[in-house]
Amino acid sequence: MRILLIFLTFFTINSVAQQQDRFYATMNIVDANALKIDIPEEIDIISTQGNEAAVYMSTEAAHKLHDRILVHGPGYIFKASEAEAMKALVEKPTVRTRMPLTITEDATVAQVLEVINTQNIEDHILELEDYGTRFHTTATGTQAAEDLKTKWEAMAALYNRSDVSVRLFNHSSTNMPSVIMTIEGSELPDEYVIVGGHLDSTSSQGNNDAPGADDDASGIATITEATRALFEIGFVPKRTIEVMAYAAEEVGLVGSAEIADEYSDTNVNVVAVTQFDMTNFNGSANDIYFITDFTDSTLNSYLMDLLDHYNASGDHAITYSTSLCNYGCSDHASWTNEGFMASFPFEASFAQRNGNIHTPNDTYTVSGTADHATKFTKLCAEFLIETAKGETVLGITTIDENSVFAVIDGNILRYDASAASVYYKSIQVYDVTGKKVAEHAINEKQGTIDVSRLSSGVYVANFVSNSGATAAMKLSKK
Ligand SMILES: [Zn+2]
Repeated sequence: MRILLIFLTFFTINSVAQQQDRFYATMNIVDANALKIDIPEEIDIISTQGNEAAVYMSTEAAHKLHDRILVHGPGYIFKASEAEAMKALVEKPTVRTRMPLTITEDATVAQVLEVINTQNIEDHILELEDYGTRFHTTATGTQAAEDLKTKWEAMAALYNRSDVSVRLFNHSSTNMPSVIMTIEGSELPDEYVIVGGHLDSTSSQGNNDAPGADDDASGIATITEATRALFEIGFVPKRTIEVMAYAAEEVGLVGSAEIADEYSDTNVNVVAVTQFDMTNFNGSANDIYFITDFTDSTLNSYLMDLLDHYNASGDHAITYSTSLCNYGCSDHASWTNEGFMASFPFEASFAQRNGNIHTPNDTYTVSGTADHATKFTKLCAEFLIETAKGETVLGITTIDENSVFAVIDGNILRYDASAASVYYKSIQVYDVTGKKVAEHAINEKQGTIDVSRLSSGVYVANFVSNSGATAAMKLSKK
């Protein structure tokens, strides 16, 4: 009995130590071979298949991988066991039924592009940077996940969205949870459209100083503001939308891999996934670079079609090109590995990306504005509107419910914001197609606007405050 206890104690200590220092993973075979030559003690190559290797490696080898190759994400994919690593080598993703993707929602997209707010993106990046570190083992990493859940819940409540829920997704290979916001589809709730980014951060100079502003607070801010903008225009999706902030991306795509694996195992019908990881560093001639490795070429083309359709010129112009990333470069790979269509629009050509990532210098000041991330937010909103489809509930009163008033009387629109608790700076008038047909600065809290040039029909008056908050109401002109 005593011998058994000693044996069990030894075994337990040994396996905990292994969990902390050595783990299974898959990586590109070239990288595995190079590490084996450089630091043979730190890595065992268990098996290879094509250009992929299953390895048993130390955290030292993981750091070395960062140093020796041009890498954004971890450059490897964590596997919880040897069996999992071996399975990943031989198992090809399931071929799934694909939904046709179309571009039809011009009116709704026109509305959403007007309400995306760059200041909100900046504020959110700074908020996440302020944790100091969001490394997956730190208390602030877990705190950031809990706080994001609260923030998303408050956002849904602000816009009276009873179709929205937010949950923490707990993982087996990290203590940090992922955060998932679900907007339930009104007609096709079993079909899912997903956008995501990773909430954790890392630093090669000690994980207590890992602000991760671009990598990847920018992506979390991007998907959050795109969703807020959808709420602001009253967009109700027909398909279910999920917005995901993944845990522990930086240590082998741990969070997204567990989620994608569960969705695959439980046959969740995921129509399309787009990853936003690093959106705010404007390093190249074009705005957006679509990563072409470990992504779906059909979905990549579709996203480019969206930009051609909605962002070819004018105030919302966005230019694009393509680039390669790397093995295990971000969470899109987790979805690709499970056979789901995934894309990854990136901030620059891969070689010209933000050079401060994974250091204490990855701060907002490197970019200085959130203009670049705003372009990704527009693409994110366009992607969600067109793939989830849906309707805009015109005339929805978002906030400040009973405190603003507007009516069209003949050729005069009369408004009154004197009972409002916030300061409204302007009124925008939209027609039923979502086209803005008038805008008027509010100098006095009560006033009139000449609307003689508007034809008879239904319109929406949208009161806009300095902070971007709005209150909208339906009007009709006889
Ligand atoms: Zn990243």
